[in-house]
Amino acid sequence: MTPSMQRLLGELRKLPGVGAKTAERMAYFLLREPKEEALALAEAIQEVREKTIPCSTCGHLDERDPCSICSDPSRDPYVLCVVEESRDLFAVERLGEFRGRYHVLGGRVAPLLGKEAEDLGLDSLARRVAEGGVREVILATNADVEGDATALSVRRALEALPGVGSASGPVRVTRLARGLPSGSQIEFAGAGVLKEALALRRDL
Ligand SMILES: [Zn+2]
Repeated sequence: MTPSMQRLLGELRKLPGVGAKTAERMAYFLLREPKEEALALAEAIQEVREKTIPCSTCGHLDERDPCSICSDPSRDPYVLCVVEESRDLFAVERLGEFRGRYHVLGGRVAPLLGKEAEDLGLDSLARRVAEGGVREVILATNADVEGDATALSVRRALEALPGVGSASGPVRVTRLARGLPSGSQIEFAGAGVLKEALALRRDL
């Protein structure tokens, strides 16, 4: 095997869900298809990496900062939906129900992987809430152990602020209802299930 082929295989194997066999199939596919088409993939990767930046307000990955959601005046800036990743934001957006804004954590609490709450940039979320006006923070983390731990960390960070979390306080903290099957991930949840979980969210 040539060094360049070995390099390609090494890169492909870094992709999620790609083992040695799949990497080989992909590599040979890329070698056999017309050169322009194989290079189109390389160009697409380059373009998306050059153009995509995290929104300095909410952390969502977009081609503009503030992102298209933060800069949309028709969206309620005082209801924040907290998600683990931008892909979860897309899952909620696809429902077409939510008209507030988001906060993308860019990760989750996963003690076994050494991911602690400190890595999540909760300060920027707390700052947004502390600026005032926020009525509700909806925790839309995944319905699994790590999603629960993440939701708890977010709640703790917010509860340190005045007026947050108490029943009479101005800022409600809610979590998606348990209609979401335990252990399930938001990005793969059916639209109906996710819609119901959002509608039936409850105070945390
Ligand atoms: Zn944004």
